[in-house]
Amino acid sequence: AALLAGDPAAAPPPPPVHLFSDPAEVEALRGNLLSWYDRCKRDLPWRALAATEPDADRRGYAVWVSEIMLQQTQVATVIDYYNRWMQKWPTLQALAQASLEEVNELWAGLGYYSRGKRLQEAARKVVSELAGRMPRTAEDLQKLLPGVGRYTAGAIASISYGQATGVVDGNVIRVLCRLRCIGADSSSLAVIDQLWDMANVLVDRSRPGDFNQALMELGATVCVPKAPLCGECPVKQHCRARCRKLFGNPPPVPDVEDCGVGDCPLCPPATEPWDSSLGVTNFPRKAAKKPPRVMRTATCVLERRGCHGTLEYLIVQRPSSGLLPGLWEFPSVPLAQDLQEKEREVLADHLQAWMGQPVAAKGLQFIGEVIHIFSHIHQTYVVYSLPLDGDVTLDPALSPSRWVTEDEFHASAVSTAMKKV
Ligand code: SF4
Repeated sequence: AALLAGDPAAAPPPPPVHLFSDPAEVEALRGNLLSWYDRCKRDLPWRALAATEPDADRRGYAVWVSEIMLQQTQVATVIDYYNRWMQKWPTLQALAQASLEEVNELWAGLGYYSRGKRLQEAARKVVSELAGRMPRTAEDLQKLLPGVGRYTAGAIASISYGQATGVVDGNVIRVLCRLRCIGADSSSLAVIDQLWDMANVLVDRSRPGDFNQALMELGATVCVPKAPLCGECPVKQHCRARCRKLFGNPPPVPDVEDCGVGDCPLCPPATEPWDSSLGVTNFPRKAAKKPPRVMRTATCVLERRGCHGTLEYLIVQRPSSGLLPGLWEFPSVPLAQDLQEKEREVLADHLQAWMGQPVAAKGLQFIGEVIHIFSHIHQTYVVYSLPLDGDVTLDPALSPSRWVTEDEFHASAVSTAMKKV
């Protein structure tokens, strides 16, 4: 509207080289991609449910769970978690009745733990406030369900309810940037907006869910980050990055001479236009990531002999918000920069407050260090152990705690980092 009104501040439309403006080409691309998907798609449990579940709310729920699990996690890892989850909580109502503890136990090892918690909170909301009825459009899903962003809403609406709406995830970003030679920072708002517009133009009107899954599947299996299989690609004849690789720069498409020389918001920076050794992997490009936060945490494995002589270990529960919410861990204390020299003393003080009895720093045996990379934190656990002779009475006013055997530890809601410890 701003453009039509002649608003001088409105951005001009991107040059045609970056767009899908020919309806015949769009039609051909949809057909090629969908027939490839029909032949080559992976058999995945959530796809089977989306295709066969007659109940619309159950279908939407099944896709929702898969989409949340697949965020930041590989398909191969998700399958087993997904099957166990759906067996345990086949409906929104079943999930709404679960405890956070049960959710965390099932989620243990999948990472990004707040996902499970948020999913369960949202299920409760659908049951209590929406009478158990899943919203049917991307707009409503995003508006009404906590933790459901634009991508997840589009995926649920297109796959479960046939809404002709596009999706943009990491795989789609890569494929579209290559198809249309988009080399500006792919995490910038200008590029992301453009890609959403493009995804909405491209999505097949009669099979939107399959089309979106096909585009993501192409990115996951053919148009992969490092060594894409362009020879096998079903949309190679529509790919301008490949065209540029084969025929050099500029590619033989109309109007391209206007692009890449000025300040096109979608072209690579003028200083690094095209590296011929990279070929199609010139696209996409990302601004350098912020380095992760570096943290050091002292942790203590307290052990005792249980009644049958089996070794038992003390675990305590983390707060229900923040990093790893509600998960269990060995008693741990983050170390401030200036206290890293004194980590043994800091840990002894922390344990003393717990146990209500003096703990000699000298008694803590240093075991080793464990490094774990969370998405944005480079965490080092400095691991100590402390064997106890008698029993200890833990202060009930502090976080919940319990003694567990090694097997019980592994079955508890503990993070992968703690399993490494
Ligand atoms: Fe990706 Fe290559 Fe296909 Fe282009 S031709 S979309 S770069 S796999």
